[in-house]
Amino acid sequence: MPEPVSVSVVHDTPPSVPDFTQWPSFPFEGDLRVKQLDDPVPVEPPRRGEGHRECTACNAPDDAYIWVGERWRVRAMDRPTGLPMVLILESRSHLDLGDLPNLLAAELGVMTVRLERAIRSLDGVARVHVNRWGDGSAHLHMWFLARPYGQLQLRGTFLSLWDSILPPISESQWRENLAMVAAWLAEFGGRPLAEPPRIQWQAPSSFTGQSPVEDEPTEGEAVSVIESAEEVPPAEEPGDEASAAEARGPRV
Ligand SMILES: [Zn+2]
Repeated sequence: MPEPVSVSVVHDTPPSVPDFTQWPSFPFEGDLRVKQLDDPVPVEPPRRGEGHRECTACNAPDDAYIWVGERWRVRAMDRPTGLPMVLILESRSHLDLGDLPNLLAAELGVMTVRLERAIRSLDGVARVHVNRWGDGSAHLHMWFLARPYGQLQLRGTFLSLWDSILPPISESQWRENLAMVAAWLAEFGGRPLAEPPRIQWQAPSSFTGQSPVEDEPTEGEAVSVIESAEEVPPAEEPGDEASAAEARGPRV
């Protein structure tokens, strides 16, 4: 007679690891096994900025950002990252992606393109991965992750994992990159807050030639990001606790 199959046997034979563990971009090797999946909860817990939980984005002052505008802000992690640039674009309004009114939705598109362009203009950046997860905080925040040029093994979906694996870039390079992006965004309005390193800072004029030609910079805050003559993206300096917490935690 065949042995009866018990529940424990099922638990002892988890699904085989998927093919992506064999991809060159997968950061780990060795013996792997798939985690046991928890039972789904009937009601999900509130995210930050939901229910009784405070919103770290709404509570963060402008000086926690590398660039700030009328309706958008951009912040960095609180320390140099493994990738040449990791930034978060946030709306000022406490809204999630699907809640954006048309104006902000349209501006999000413009801001996304502009920020991608700014980060991609940095030396040594091949690609900028744009992600929105939103599992950790209810306040809209888009992740921008720069992949180093030539690092083909970092291509694709594991880039956010590699950021925590790679040794951090130098502090001076990190600050210079932040200042470059902040200055780029400020070409269209808003206020750059990231400061270049005290030494060896290259004047912003060194990269004005790379500026997008679609818009002309204007003085002061722009009315709308999508109105080329009057936009305002934001940039910030790292250092707030929210950034620090998020920098250490998973990309959520
Ligand atoms: Zn908020």
